[in-house]
Amino acid sequence: MSRVFNFSAGPAILPESVLNKAASEMLDYQGCGMSVMEMSHRSKEFQDIIDRAEADLRELMDIPDNYKVLFLQGGASLLFAMIPMNLKKNGKADYIVSGSWSKKAWQEASGILDARKIADSSDENFSYVPDVDTLDIDPNADYVYICQNETIYGTLYHKLPETDVPLVADVSSCFLSEPIDVSKYALIYGGVQKNIGPAGAAVVIIREDLIQDDLPGVPKILQFKTHADAGSLYNTPPCYTIYMCGLVFQWLKENGGLEGAKERNYKKAQILYDFLDESELFSPTARKEDRSIMNVPFVTGDDALDAEFIAAATEKGF
Ligand code: PMP
Repeated sequence: MSRVFNFSAGPAILPESVLNKAASEMLDYQGCGMSVMEMSHRSKEFQDIIDRAEADLRELMDIPDNYKVLFLQGGASLLFAMIPMNLKKNGKADYIVSGSWSKKAWQEASGILDARKIADSSDENFSYVPDVDTLDIDPNADYVYICQNETIYGTLYHKLPETDVPLVADVSSCFLSEPIDVSKYALIYGGVQKNIGPAGAAVVIIREDLIQDDLPGVPKILQFKTHADAGSLYNTPPCYTIYMCGLVFQWLKENGGLEGAKERNYKKAQILYDFLDESELFSPTARKEDRSIMNVPFVTGDDALDAEFIAAATEKGF
């Protein structure tokens, strides 16, 4: 068997031992005579799978008890709409636009509430994270929104905005890459397909007091409360994806937790950045102090040469 060196930002590589375990349980999950793909989401087996996945995630991230964990369908993009729909109270929110994903989220929110762009790094092609110490945050905003790791531009907030306004973060491409203090956020979310499992689900970690009871005009399926009350089993969830996420959580626990992940990720990223900083051919595009440890974009400065590099790398099994 030959496996490629998969540098895709997402759907991304999964630990081989996780894939092997899933393969070994493919036809018969722990003696129940069927695959997780064929199983009822109301079965005891699946309830155990989702309960364990949630418990392991809580342990890994040290999630406080006053936060709910939701496994939702629709990926991260659905959350671009669900967040303003669900957190809307005063009808306004502040967005920091630091790349294409926060821009999309801001644009989507603009159709739902008064989404104010309070900082923007497009002036330098999103190569940096706006200064979080000089933000003009509206104290009455329903939330402040960041995309903590901009996948395409390879930037990471190494420091968060300090504010009493609820902080919402898209962590799709830095999920579980290093320990974070969950209590600093009101809502953390991400599509799972980059760092956690196969595509098909998003994980939402939300402080309970932000889950509103009464959201007139918001379809039930789009309300956080619906999914929180039903333990993410309001309707048939992406069961196999959740099972795979659970296997990755177990793998992370067995491999040093998020401290272990942090060590591996900084080490890996450093190898690339050290090479790129020395290279006469390639340049990394993100500002040094804002560099992501998950996505490392680099260019030659010549489109034809970039294309030649990509073709050569593909041929070498990257
Ligand atoms: N946010 C970020 C940071 C992403 O990288 C992506 C996907 N590349 C998305 C949101 C959108 O995710 P999805 O495709 O799951 O909707």
